[in-house]
Amino acid sequence: MSDCLFCAISAGDIPADIVARSDQALAFRDIDPKAPVHILIIPTEHYDDVPAVAEADPGLAGELLALAALVATQEGVAASGHRLVANTGVEGGQSVGHAHIHLLGGRGLGWPPG
Ligand code: AMP
Repeated sequence: MSDCLFCAISAGDIPADIVARSDQALAFRDIDPKAPVHILIIPTEHYDDVPAVAEADPGLAGELLALAALVATQEGVAASGHRLVANTGVEGGQSVGHAHIHLLGGRGLGWPPG
């Protein structure tokens, strides 16, 4: 999608601090971290949100989760605990219209989130 920020990151047109890749997914550090570890996991191809990925390609949805698990280990928050979040739509607080999963960790995370 031509005016999509995460498509531009996926294409390498906008720099990002990439921490891991898989066949069809990419993980990079959030530019405005809400926790010591804050990574975004995205499909390299454009989907509007995570439910759209799950509907169109359940295997790819699984690949996003698998990459998140790999990154959690890599970042040292697999054993200590971490949170995966997929903000979806307006009321879900989604601000970038390209599917992404937040991986947050490195501190105690309260529940429910604010
Ligand atoms: P959401 O609000 O769930 O759509 O999450 C979008 C996330 O993208 C926010 O946490 C932003 O801080 C993050 N973000 C926006 N621009 C960039 C960028 N250029 N590189 C990395 N993360 C970004």
